[in-house]
Amino acid sequence: MSPNPVSFADLALVEPLRRAVADEGYAHPTPIQRQAIPVLLEGRDLLGVAQTGTGKTAAFALPVLHHLAAARPGPGKRPIRALVLSPTRELAAQIHERFTAYGQHLRLNSLVIFGGVKQHAQVKALHSGTDVLVATPGRLLDLHQQGHVDFSRVEYFVLDEADRMLDMGFIHDIRKVLAVLPPKRQNLLFSATMPPPIAKLARSFLHEPVRVEVTPPATTVERIEQSMWFCERNDKRHLLAALLEDPEVDRALVFTRTKHGANRLTKQLTTDGFEAAAIHGNKSQNARVRALEGFREGSVKVLVATDVAARGIDVEGVSHVFNYDLPNEPESYVHRIGRTGRAGRAGIAIAFCDPTEIEYLQDIEKLIGEPIDRIIDHPWHCAAAVPSDRRPAHQGGKGAHQGRHRPPVDAPRGRSAERREAAADAPAEGGQQRRRSRRGGGGRGDEATAPTPSTHAAAGGEGGAQPARRRRRRRRGGGGGGGGGGGAPT
Ligand code: AMP
Repeated sequence: MSPNPVSFADLALVEPLRRAVADEGYAHPTPIQRQAIPVLLEGRDLLGVAQTGTGKTAAFALPVLHHLAAARPGPGKRPIRALVLSPTRELAAQIHERFTAYGQHLRLNSLVIFGGVKQHAQVKALHSGTDVLVATPGRLLDLHQQGHVDFSRVEYFVLDEADRMLDMGFIHDIRKVLAVLPPKRQNLLFSATMPPPIAKLARSFLHEPVRVEVTPPATTVERIEQSMWFCERNDKRHLLAALLEDPEVDRALVFTRTKHGANRLTKQLTTDGFEAAAIHGNKSQNARVRALEGFREGSVKVLVATDVAARGIDVEGVSHVFNYDLPNEPESYVHRIGRTGRAGRAGIAIAFCDPTEIEYLQDIEKLIGEPIDRIIDHPWHCAAAVPSDRRPAHQGGKGAHQGRHRPPVDAPRGRSAERREAAADAPAEGGQQRRRSRRGGGGRGDEATAPTPSTHAAAGGEGGAQPARRRRRRRRGGGGGGGGGGGAPT
């Protein structure tokens, strides 16, 4: 297959699908779409090595919808003809949303089911019939065992994010699902990586698959403008708040290592006047959906997430990804920053490194194969957090930061300026102000003063060591309350 540029018109998709794609504003198919769609239209099985952000959902949804539209099942209740398995509820909801968008000009139904919510509405919807079912494995098997799911007419089976399924312990469930599907069907497996258990699983159910592989993560990363900022752990929130002031930040995804950390940071950002919400595994499904919707429509500017919750989150136009905490697995860094700069668009990824995270930084740079631009001239700079292996790129050499986008953290304006003033008025509990202007910045003097809670709220009790800056700028509740469960699926 030639990698020549093709348009969607060249892909032999039925007209309503081409129209839907045009409605979505897609000008050209992405590489995975160019490679996978023709093969899938021929009816071949497919092994797709691609991560989220490459356009892989359309790569499988469009041909599946094309086939479904071509062969109508006749009157009566619609049988499930396409089954898509996804590891997380968020991803399942997003795949369903994509099927709905791409199928908008076709008379086909899609339904999503996942755990964590009451099953009643899902059971009802299943009994009304659907052409496409998107599901997480646990809930699917549950409902199947209760007799609510009929697999007998499934012709297309898609296993998405197979490596994630493995990580989350779903392989056994997948085998159970495979065992009850009709043997004659088209199979698709997508995975960002291909560890041996996934390769084995793929061999067990794909028939002479065509393998398509697109841009490995390290290359995807090249399109993203990355920078590394060094500071002490307790200063991260101030640095983040200052960077969020940049008008170029219009939708920011912030990663923390723990759920507790995500909650705490969200509260602090809300107190500081930012529209922030948290998304992580301890939140109810309703709270997660609400946070994601707010983020999508723009009422939530800052979404604070942990890795697992953020897996597969697909929100267009994430302008910035912040690695508030560096991940201890370097691959997570690549996954995280892949949330910005999706499907060909550039994005900005900013990471913070404190003195305890130097090794993580070194592992990340080893994985991506190049140093990340280091920014050292900001008010909270901490030299002890900089690895001693090389001189900061900022001072010259590869990746110097001149001319590239550089948020104006040292400009004392807007909320950061107010914050500093407020801090000067009301010193933090047990915390004096500390000066943080290491070098550069030229005569920033006292305006470089940052409030620093000197007592470190380690893993333990929340609230005690919070800096005492109480500012009355709260606008909306943010992600505070994890309301009651229940609620309907998407
Ligand atoms: P995915 O990898 O399926 O999660 O897709 C990542 C993002 O790319 C989604 O926001 C899609 O809407 C978008 N997308 C998919 N295909 C295209 C395309 N051909 N052109 C532009 N954007 C696309």
